[in-house]
Amino acid sequence: MINVLFSANPDRWAQYEAPLRSALDAAGLDYALSTEIAPEEVDYIVFTPDGPVSDFRPYTRTKAVLGLWAGVETIVGNQTLTQPLCRMVDHGLTDGMVEWVTGHVLRHHLMMDAHIHGQDGVWRAGVVPPLAKDRKVCMLGLGALGAACAAQLVSLKFDVHGWSRRPKAVEGVTCHAGEEGFDAALAEADVVVLLLPDTPATTNIMNAAAFGLLARGASIVNPGRGPLIEDEALLAALGSGQVGHATLDVFRVEPLPPEHPYWAHPGVTVTPHIASETRADTASEVIARNIQRGEAGKPFLNVVDRAAGY
Ligand code: NDP
Repeated sequence: MINVLFSANPDRWAQYEAPLRSALDAAGLDYALSTEIAPEEVDYIVFTPDGPVSDFRPYTRTKAVLGLWAGVETIVGNQTLTQPLCRMVDHGLTDGMVEWVTGHVLRHHLMMDAHIHGQDGVWRAGVVPPLAKDRKVCMLGLGALGAACAAQLVSLKFDVHGWSRRPKAVEGVTCHAGEEGFDAALAEADVVVLLLPDTPATTNIMNAAAFGLLARGASIVNPGRGPLIEDEALLAALGSGQVGHATLDVFRVEPLPPEHPYWAHPGVTVTPHIASETRADTASEVIARNIQRGEAGKPFLNVVDRAAGY
């Protein structure tokens, strides 16, 4: 019998209990699943950082901490966590992100706002978007989410460039890597999508110099994390017209405070960290698969690299 502790925001238990039980049953595991198990008896922790556990030292027999979130910036530095930490890579989460990113890229590409906001009797016949092949989209981050979004944009024939820490190959994408590849990835990009993790190496990666590399009037789409963008530099780039629009889903402080200049800025669209959510049914299958692997002595999937921070 293995003991699985659910340590996430208590609101999530009602949503996750049934899917987790059915996924653990389907995996043929003999288990107890609960929100309360004595720490020294816990084998696996299903985890979100806003749940009750933050000191992992009493969890002496725990084999892995299985996160329900893709982003791990608030847990990766926890010195009490010595067990393997796995993050969420789930096709429901990926599909949601592909839909959100594609929708927002198409909004900018097709210049939809010009018509949506222009219902004023003026026949704007000159506003014709170019074809996707003539728009350069830069995907910063080619991980589980960035690579899937890039592939979808390639299927729509955008000129997609991608950037990652280590060299990568994604079919149809011009791939750049490392510091030396950064400028070429961004050069003259019409749309930039940020799907990087929040780490010391990525903080303020979109700063004045980076905005200066883009095509004039470029659009920024950020479903990654707030600290990837230097906010003052973005506001200045919007003010000068170097950036035409920014669609921002994530912020340094969430909820975004009502007095923040992004709310009232005509060049900014704020969405409330809804780009994509972990889906209970598909995520539960990922959790069960990882427990099954742990019990079979196989390496866990989606283990976080603590040194890299993601
Ligand atoms: P992955 O870890 O799979 O991918 C991260 C990508 O970023 C990789 O390609 C990685 O490079 C690249 N990267 C990391 N550090 C650097 C660096 N210093 N320089 C260049 N490239 C770097 O993450 P996911 O794709 O699953 O998720 C990305 C982020 O999306 C999450 O960290 C999270 O913050 C955010 N997110 C937001 C959601 C929302 O609703 N708004 C929902 C889910 C996630 P390499 O391939 O070489 O490792």
